[in-house]
Amino acid sequence: MEQYQIAPTPENYAVFSSYTSDSIPELCEAVANRISAGEAFDQTFCDALYNEHFAIAKIQEAVMASSGAMAKELIQVRETLKVAEQHTAAYGETLAGAEDAFDEKADPGQMRDVIRSLVSATTNMQVRSRDLERRLHETSSEVVKLRSNLERVREEAMTDALTGIANRKRFDEMLRKGRRSSDANHGSMCLILCDIDHFKRFNDTWGHQTGDQIIRFVAGCMSRIAAEHHTVARYGGEEFAVVMPKTSLSEAAVLAEKVRVTVEGKRLLRKSTSEDLGNITISLGVAEYAHGEAIEDLIERADANLYKSKKAGRNRITSDDRAGARSAA
Ligand code: GH3
Ligand code: MG
Ligand code: MG
Repeated sequence: MEQYQIAPTPENYAVFSSYTSDSIPELCEAVANRISAGEAFDQTFCDALYNEHFAIAKIQEAVMASSGAMAKELIQVRETLKVAEQHTAAYGETLAGAEDAFDEKADPGQMRDVIRSLVSATTNMQVRSRDLERRLHETSSEVVKLRSNLERVREEAMTDALTGIANRKRFDEMLRKGRRSSDANHGSMCLILCDIDHFKRFNDTWGHQTGDQIIRFVAGCMSRIAAEHHTVARYGGEEFAVVMPKTSLSEAAVLAEKVRVTVEGKRLLRKSTSEDLGNITISLGVAEYAHGEAIEDLIERADANLYKSKKAGRNRITSDDRAGARSAA
C-alpha cells in the first residue's frame, strides 16, 4: 500500500489483503490487468474494486471490523518496532563506545567497567528482543484469527440460508471460475438448470412452510448425486443449478436424469403431520460451455433447454442439441 501511496483505511486494507491472500480470483485478475497495463493503481481504482467485491453488507461489516482491528494491531506493531529500533541504536552506541575504550588500551579496572556495562546492555537487549518476539507472535495469531473469521463470514454470505447449498453469488463465482479453467485447459464444462414443476399449486395446497421443506428436499437430492467438484446452487426461489467443470455433455445429462428420477421416485410426507404429499417432479435444462462464449449465453441456453422441458410436458430433461451447439467463437 505504501508503494502505491494508498492510505491504510479499512476499505483499502480489505482490497489489499484479498489481493495478497489470493482469496478473490476476480479481484486478483483485475489488479494484475491493471498493473500489466501500466495504469495508475490509485484510490479511484481501489474504490471501484471495493464496491465490486465487497458490496454484500455482511461481508462489508466483517471486513470493516476485522480491518479496523488489523489496522490497530499493525499500528501497535509499528510502535513496538520503532521502540526496538531506538533500543538497537542505543545498544549499538554502547558497543561502539566499548570499542573506543579498547582502542585506547584502557587499564584493567576500566576494562572491567566496560565489560560490565556491555553485559548489562546485552542482557537488556535480550529481554527487549524477547518482548518484541512475543508481541510479534501475538500479532500473527491475531492476524490468523481475523483471517479465519473473515473466511467464515464470506462462506456464510455465499450460502443459501434455507437449504445450506451455494447461493446465487457463489453460483456466479463458480461459473466464472469454471469458465476460466475450462478455457485454460480446453476442458469441457456443463451447466444444469432445474425448476420444480407446478410448485405454485403445491404451495397453495400445502402452504409455504411445506413448500420450503420440498425446496430443501430437492437441494438435498441434487447435492447427494452431484460430484465433489460440482457446485449445486439455489439459483432462485424454487430453481437450482449445477455448475459442472470437467464434465462432458453426456455425463451432465446422465446426472440430470438421475436427479429427475430420484426426485420423482420419492414419496413425500409432510413433516409436521406426516400427511402423504404424493410426489413432485422437476424439469431440467442441460447446456455445455462453448469456449469463448459469454457466461450469460451459457445460462440462457440452459434456461432455454429448461423451458423446452416445461413445454414438452415437464418432468424431463433437455440437453443442448449437439448439431446446433455453438463451436468456439
Ligand atoms: P412450472 O411448472 O411452470 O415451473 O410452474 P410453477 O408453479 O412451479 O411456476 P414457477 O416456477 O414460476 O413457480 C414459482 C413459485 O415458487 C412461486 C412461489 O410460490 C414459489 N416459491 C418461490 N420461492 C419460494 C420459497 O422460497 N419458498 C416457497 N415455499 N415457495 C417459493
Ligand atoms: Mg420457477
Ligand atoms: Mg416451477
